[in-house]
Amino acid sequence: MELTINRAPVDHRLLDDILARAQALAGLSVEEAARLLTIDEPESLNKLFNTARTVKEAVFGRRVVLFAPLYLSNSCTNNCLYCGFRIDNREQGSVRRTLSVDEAVHEARLLEQKGYKRLLLVLGEDRSASDLSYLRTVVEAIYSQTGIRILHLNAAPMTVEEFREIKAMGVGVYQCFQETYHEPTYRRMHPSGKKADFQWRIEAMDRAMEGGFGDVGMGALLGLYDYRFEVASLIAHARHLEARFGVGPHTISVPRLQPAAGAALDRAPSPVSDAEFKKIVAVYRLAIPYAGVVISTREPAALRDEVIEIGASQLSAGSSTEPGGYGDHDRSASQFEVEDHRSIDEMVKVIAEKGWLPSLCTACYRSGRTGDHFRELAEEGDIKQFCLPNALLTLQEYALDSATPETAELCNRIIAREGGSLAASLREGFMKKLGRIKAGERDIFY
Ligand code: SF4
Repeated sequence: MELTINRAPVDHRLLDDILARAQALAGLSVEEAARLLTIDEPESLNKLFNTARTVKEAVFGRRVVLFAPLYLSNSCTNNCLYCGFRIDNREQGSVRRTLSVDEAVHEARLLEQKGYKRLLLVLGEDRSASDLSYLRTVVEAIYSQTGIRILHLNAAPMTVEEFREIKAMGVGVYQCFQETYHEPTYRRMHPSGKKADFQWRIEAMDRAMEGGFGDVGMGALLGLYDYRFEVASLIAHARHLEARFGVGPHTISVPRLQPAAGAALDRAPSPVSDAEFKKIVAVYRLAIPYAGVVISTREPAALRDEVIEIGASQLSAGSSTEPGGYGDHDRSASQFEVEDHRSIDEMVKVIAEKGWLPSLCTACYRSGRTGDHFRELAEEGDIKQFCLPNALLTLQEYALDSATPETAELCNRIIAREGGSLAASLREGFMKKLGRIKAGERDIFY
């Protein structure tokens, strides 16, 4: 498939119509999204960004979710040209490492002490280093030996039966990026290994959903091919899932290609500028309003702060992209370079100071408010009702257990302000729960 881009200036009346429908949470068609991606004059961009911000607040309130990746293994049989884990990376320092179960638990504990409640497990594709039974043992050990409350998984595509097993382990979201939807580019970027099979990868989300995952995380790696094609294709992919399973992606990640030591690519073939990146975030927010839009620490701090204002709803923070990277283990190869090195405490502070609400909440996954249930609740506006008090309760835990004194004070001010703004019918119950947390109970939620 080749891409034809309509570069005609966007008609203002048409733009207003598209944005009005998006503001009513109707999403965007692929064509509408493609039109919005061509906008580049300031007045239209402002309208786009303002609408994205309104839509984010309508669905998620003012919360910004924080999480960290936990890399289990950098051993990989694939050869993705942009990745430091690729099998042909034999540079000095590209040590292959798969964490033992104890090491994985140690890493999870370190992250728990910093205040994280949700982690994204990440591993390369190498069944000889990390098979399903390894994964099961790690997941069970982290759940039983740490206070981490939900584990999501970024791993290579599997069969329906394997997805069923992973889901039964208690994994929340299955995440897998298509990298590029442009098949000739995909073939060039993935010269060998199982991942060279475009079809196997593009059908991964279907198999995950057939295997019982109501929540899947999608993404295209920006920089490999024309971003307009990638964004439009991802939206078409999401529409396919909605049509087939009644629910689209739970999250859309917006990774931009970053240099990686030992990668075969030293620069992006189709670079995406910061201005284009912001447009992409806003368009994803409008196109699939109920999906979390996830921004990783690949992006510089200032840009991450900006996109919170225009649709991003989840940020990783304090990330390491190498196995054992949070502890004092020997160094091994990392997947890509991190740009934003701020800790979770700094991120909580920045988000709070901007007037948003840092959230470490995991209640929805553990109360079954996932997949199409999540969407139904979101459509009825109930997510905000559940989520605001839950976010405040976990923020109280964070202030008591992990925050620096300055950040704790800021968190307490937010909790007092936002708790006071809760509907009268909720307030009394909320204050009781808050009191229980202050008295030492943990993991209390609606
Ligand atoms: S991107 Fe994933 S599959 Fe490709 S080499 Fe890196 S870890 Fe392996």
